[in-house]
Amino acid sequence: MDIIAIVGRPNVGKSTLYNRLIGEKQSIVDDQSGVTRDRQYGQSHWNGKEFAVVDTGGFVRNSEDVFEAAIRDQVEIAIDEAKVIIFMVDVSTGVTDLDQQIARMLRKTNKPVFLAVNKVDNQTRQLEAAEFWSMGFTETHNLSSVTGSGTGDLLDAVVEHI
Ligand code: GDP
Ligand code: MG
Repeated sequence: MDIIAIVGRPNVGKSTLYNRLIGEKQSIVDDQSGVTRDRQYGQSHWNGKEFAVVDTGGFVRNSEDVFEAAIRDQVEIAIDEAKVIIFMVDVSTGVTDLDQQIARMLRKTNKPVFLAVNKVDNQTRQLEAAEFWSMGFTETHNLSSVTGSGTGDLLDAVVEHI
């Protein structure tokens, strides 16, 4: 089954979107360590297409370096296994260094990458979201994973590749 991977730095809202897609709350807390613990798979469907969704990132780490390395691992696995990648960023923080690092990795793949600018909950944030077009992803979508606004349009475009 084709995999849609949601990647991005912590707190941008990846799990919120994942839970919205999978339709049930799943706990991210367990005792395993490493990359496996930090990945969660679920199954979903949209527009008649079935797919698996992977949510990445528990990332409970001490050192900033290991933390960033863990995120890079997740992005590499996503590039490897996913059919389509949703790269999530957060309008409330603007573009960060870590966002730029992830973007550099994702520009190297030929797989479709959708930049999902999350937490666009209102009109002001719609305007602020324009900043993210500078990252150069032709598929850039504003959404609010909490209200669901924009998530349908994003999925319509994503499942075109499934
Ligand atoms: P993750 O670390 O990327 O998986 O992020 P989470 O899904 O755990 O969300 C981090 C925080 O952002 C939580 O407090 C969410 O409720 C909040 N959040 C997620 N999506 C949105 C959104 O669209 N709008 C707003 N305002 N908050 C959001
Ligand atoms: Mg999460």
